[in-house]
Amino acid sequence: MKKLPKYSIALTALLLALCSCGGMKTKTSDNNKQESLVTIPTFNADSAYNYVAQQVAMGHRVPGTMAHKNTAQWLANEMTRHGADVIVQEATVEVYNGKEVPMYNIIAQFAPEKSNRILLAAHWDSRPHADHDPNPENRLLPIDGANDGASGVGVLLEIARHLGVTPPAMGVDIILFDVEDYGAPEWIEGDNSDTWALGSRYWATQPHVAGYRARFGILLDMVGAPGHCFYREYFSQHYASHIIDKVWDCAERLGFSSVFVNSMGGAITDDHIYMNMAGVPSIDIIQMNGYSETGFFDQWHTTDDTIEHIDTYMLGAVGQTVITVIYEEK
Ligand SMILES: [Zn+2]
Repeated sequence: MKKLPKYSIALTALLLALCSCGGMKTKTSDNNKQESLVTIPTFNADSAYNYVAQQVAMGHRVPGTMAHKNTAQWLANEMTRHGADVIVQEATVEVYNGKEVPMYNIIAQFAPEKSNRILLAAHWDSRPHADHDPNPENRLLPIDGANDGASGVGVLLEIARHLGVTPPAMGVDIILFDVEDYGAPEWIEGDNSDTWALGSRYWATQPHVAGYRARFGILLDMVGAPGHCFYREYFSQHYASHIIDKVWDCAERLGFSSVFVNSMGGAITDDHIYMNMAGVPSIDIIQMNGYSETGFFDQWHTTDDTIEHIDTYMLGAVGQTVITVIYEEK
């Protein structure tokens, strides 16, 4: 993902307005359903951390590599093991430099027969270029992507484990988007905001279910760096402020208000743009840092985005908040 300069915000907002007409309605819950007490599962942050470490150990998940292909298979197997009906959406997409790479969107459907659904997402690919590395010699190298990619997927795999054991009232779809982070490197000038999030863009035009609808969507991206916070992201605020309210209120009740800060952050080009375009009101839970030059955590798009910089407390704060939101939804 990338922080957007101001001129891109206006353009993207216009694009969203044009593309999402008629598709932003949310479904209301069925009032005839019997009310029942809900047991909220306890999110296991150590398990999520393990899932992050396992992804990093698979190697750099750069589209077109063997590690990428193997990880796609592993993710699909894990979701199946947790009881999901899995669809792997395969295609070839063209990245910023004209190269064609394989794309695998991993789509895990829990209780696909239910019409009331929640969409959760994260990107699972890792970036081919460490273009923000302080050492210029490292900038052509791929990154581990422990936080940038693997952290969100780790949290969702742990949530998937609970969905399999204790099904919530809602149907849940978890989409692990591919080719999010193959955007044009810093040294290529101009507005390259359309070179990111290619997997979610593909899905938005060719959803796994024709006319796909979900009540709302939550994207997790970069959720594991210690001491970093989530702010109300610009596009999330614009298109789904009620979902930010829901998630941030829940976090406050759980005692995580120092992590989920109730003030505005920047505008981020990320998969939630295309989730909104697909008609699902969606937010991005993403760590921002107003004090760093890039706007993100210090190791962002460097070879130092490693497992050593993943904080179990952060994974737990996000995981417990999101799982509570899911299980409280009727
Ligand atoms: Zn990234």
